[in-house]
Amino acid sequence: MKSIRIRAGRERSLLRRHPWVFEGGIAGGRADPGETVRVVAEDGQFLAWAAYSPQSMIRLRVWSFDEAERIDPAFFSRRIARAIALRAQLALDSDAMRLVHGEADGLPGLVVDRYGDTLCAQFLSSGSERWKEVLADALCAQPGVTRLYERSDASVRGLEGLEPRTGWLRGDGDTRVGIREHGWTFDVDLEGGHKTGFYLDQRDNRVLFARLVGERRCRRVLNCYSYTGGFSVAALAGGAEQVTSVDSSAPALERAAAHVARNGYDAARHATLDADVNQTLRRLLAEGRRFDAIVLDPPKLAPTAAHAERAARAYKDINRLALQLLETDGLLLTFSCSGAIGAELFQKIVAGAAVDAGVDAGIHARLQEAPDHPATLFFPEGQYLKGLALLRR
Ligand code: SAH
Repeated sequence: MKSIRIRAGRERSLLRRHPWVFEGGIAGGRADPGETVRVVAEDGQFLAWAAYSPQSMIRLRVWSFDEAERIDPAFFSRRIARAIALRAQLALDSDAMRLVHGEADGLPGLVVDRYGDTLCAQFLSSGSERWKEVLADALCAQPGVTRLYERSDASVRGLEGLEPRTGWLRGDGDTRVGIREHGWTFDVDLEGGHKTGFYLDQRDNRVLFARLVGERRCRRVLNCYSYTGGFSVAALAGGAEQVTSVDSSAPALERAAAHVARNGYDAARHATLDADVNQTLRRLLAEGRRFDAIVLDPPKLAPTAAHAERAARAYKDINRLALQLLETDGLLLTFSCSGAIGAELFQKIVAGAAVDAGVDAGIHARLQEAPDHPATLFFPEGQYLKGLALLRR
């Protein structure tokens, strides 16, 4: 077993159970991509078992802090069993869930969503890539799971020196699967959808939106960055009369329209706009249009901390426009999934947008990802989604 020595002082984050060591923290030692290494302090003291990634800035990702633990197939079976047990306690109102959420489940670089009998996985690090077959076997050993589709085409794989790869890893067949969420049904496109196909992290926020739209009798709803219309279906379920889904992806909007029909709502109550959100908000404002509820769920505008400032301006812009488009007492659900923008900063950005819009708003609720996307005390980066449910005054 190869050893990797950590620079003096840089072992502190490991002692605090943070699972990453960056390139600059390594004092010596080398290994192959994904190889399991013994991580030791300057004085040789054991710190962790980790996967080595020679090309990545994140040079080490910890499998275990327990010296007695062996990193073998049984280890991965135990970790997956623990992740599944955690979800079993959640009583999710859905047959779709995030089953493995990377570092927060002790499986760095592995993301797995379950859609009924089908799994969709992203292997995003050299370590998870190296153990892919073992992980696939362990995942498919669960009762009721028959197939596993791989969507290892996220750009972060490039940072690990890994090529994109997609396709069936276990089983095969139709790459469209139906899921049930709350009382609704959706189709997930494993092959052509974004990421693993569906944004399960917004599950609880969708049902909250349906409830608020109903309670507040919102009639006109604008769903920005709608993807396949999850929040649009929620708005219709809440009783909205007219819902508009805006997205720059035509296939996503086709699915949104199909989801409206599939859930039994009249197509006349739903419109789609294949357009840029920022431009659309400006146009709607110029036309004097107003809405009773708006959702802003943009993609990650700050992929890294270096993009944070530009992203902050972009978040501020769309939030200002949305607040201006809202009726008094109107509801805004606004989100950021950029890890580089914390909840406090996000609230400041939205407050700045409200100042510029010349409106005040009360915070009805602070929102985050659904609990099958756990965060841990030791890995705060795992919590990336932050949102505010605002009521315009
Ligand atoms: N709220 C959705 C998920 C949104 S994901 C849900 O609950 O399922 C972000 C979406 O923004 C993607 O569908 C992407 O196509 C879209 N998008 C990205 N940039 C955009 C832009 N400039 N204008 C409009 N849509 C955009």
